[in-house]
Amino acid sequence: RIVYVNGNYVPESEATVSVFDRGFLFADAVYEVTAVVGGKLIDFDGHVTRLKRSVAELSMPAEVDEAKLRGIHEELVSRNDIDEGLVYLQLTRGAADRDFLYPDTSTTPTLVLFTQKKAVVENPAAERGMAVVSLPDLRWDRRDIKTVQLLYPSMAKMEAKAQGADDAWLVEDGMVTEATSANAYIVTGDGTIVTRGLSNAILHGITRRAVLALAEEAGLKVEERGFTIDEAKAAREAFVTSASAFVMPVVSIDGAKIGDGSVGPLARRLRGIYLEALAA
Ligand code: PLP
Repeated sequence: RIVYVNGNYVPESEATVSVFDRGFLFADAVYEVTAVVGGKLIDFDGHVTRLKRSVAELSMPAEVDEAKLRGIHEELVSRNDIDEGLVYLQLTRGAADRDFLYPDTSTTPTLVLFTQKKAVVENPAAERGMAVVSLPDLRWDRRDIKTVQLLYPSMAKMEAKAQGADDAWLVEDGMVTEATSANAYIVTGDGTIVTRGLSNAILHGITRRAVLALAEEAGLKVEERGFTIDEAKAAREAFVTSASAFVMPVVSIDGAKIGDGSVGPLARRLRGIYLEALAA
């Protein structure tokens, strides 16, 4: 694989980052994951806009140049022959002597990108549906910033696996925030799609925005509000969205079947609408 590190395209075995990099020492880094379908980047503008916001929220003295970043993404997709998969981008505050204070603004940020081949469209999980378990949301309060502090989501996913499930839905003050790496939704008895409103409690998903817009265009009812695990268990359907999973049905929560325990028609339809929009 060819990866990108600070201006250079190099084989992954030759790519290096300093041990003093603040991304490594302090998780002082932000990231984005953009899906690739048919060799094309999906919703790239949305990902760059969110990256700019993450950079601004952390006062990182890094320039986010959309055209330049698009060029790097496209170059990696081409050099690695990615038809379907992902491009991962990570931007850190750079390497500096270890200190909790940010280094002065002359420190050069570190920019790393790599690709992953992955069958994102024909994903068998979309036919099977996912089992999730609820776990407390013990992440920090700025989940709207897409930082690489992913240890708790990683622990939660391990715990979900230990319980025989595919993922966790995280709960704070009795309400579901989101999944470990996706936004969470339920469909109520009258067919309304419910997902938590935007705030610092969740990541503002790029797929969330696209799917909610497509749902409204299709005349579906959408309500942005919190919901409990009990409401989710009693819901007609449940699903999650993310750049790599698109719309992914959830068929059980804490061992309780959602609806009849099979993939819901609305989740299936939304996945279809989303994939059609990608192909257009
Ligand atoms: N929520 C969290 C915590 C995530 O990590 C992600 C994606 O990685 C999402 C939601 C979905 O965001 P997006 O649709 O932009 O991939």
